[in-house]
Amino acid sequence: MKLTFCPLFSGSSGNALYISGGDTRILIDAGMAGRSIENALREIGVLPEMLSGIAVTHEHSDHVKGVGILSRKYHIPVYANEGTWNGMARSVGDIPPGCRRIVQTGEDFYIGDLALLPFAIPHDAAEPVGYRVFCAAHSVATATDIGHMTKQILRTLAGTEVLLLESNHDPDMLRRNPHYPLQLKQRILGSRGHLSNGDSAEALLALCESGVRQVLLGHLSGENNTPELALDTAVRRLSQAGVRLNEDIGLGVAWRDRVSRKFEIGT
Ligand SMILES: [Zn+2]
Ligand SMILES: [Zn+2]
Repeated sequence: MKLTFCPLFSGSSGNALYISGGDTRILIDAGMAGRSIENALREIGVLPEMLSGIAVTHEHSDHVKGVGILSRKYHIPVYANEGTWNGMARSVGDIPPGCRRIVQTGEDFYIGDLALLPFAIPHDAAEPVGYRVFCAAHSVATATDIGHMTKQILRTLAGTEVLLLESNHDPDMLRRNPHYPLQLKQRILGSRGHLSNGDSAEALLALCESGVRQVLLGHLSGENNTPELALDTAVRRLSQAGVRLNEDIGLGVAWRDRVSRKFEIGT
């Protein structure tokens, strides 16, 4: 069975990741206006009514903005753990009772042909998770909104074929940014904030050794990062360690405001 992976939006202003396997199509997060997500799906030839579920990582608005609208309009089941359901209760509004699915962090569950494993991440939300998604022998994953990388997360991601990995900010750009109050800077830089370019590059090295083959750097900050800077930091760190780009690992960037590259694995 073919596994398809395509970030529709990835960044501090909104996130939605499209994954399909066999006859099942899902989104992980729907953190843009419903209309923007509908348009992005149409661009890759998917109608919103074809979706079998939306799996939510955590309640921050850049991950849930369109969840309620899409679920109500197309009767799409929403999957989240209890902490996230509580955290997003007000922002997503009423979800039809038949569309409320409660999952457990650390326990895999199925949506049609896809198996999803929600794994805990350190982030300042109620019960935030990343997801590894399996279809037959293949797997992909998303790991963003991570204050600091942990051994447990690296173990969970080992051998993933395509991974969306956070590379949120350049710490110097963030510290110098005159538009951000000190408290916000401290939140982002903290151990439950976001992963910097340097920390992401370090994680990338470990992931490459564990067999991860394709990585898109994502959840980039619009003000405190650029795609070039994120990519440069990663490429420099990998080549320092003797990793051959495009041979040992493929690397790219997921776009903040438009559909990124679509990966298809398997037959
Ligand atoms: Zn967040
Ligand atoms: Zn986020």
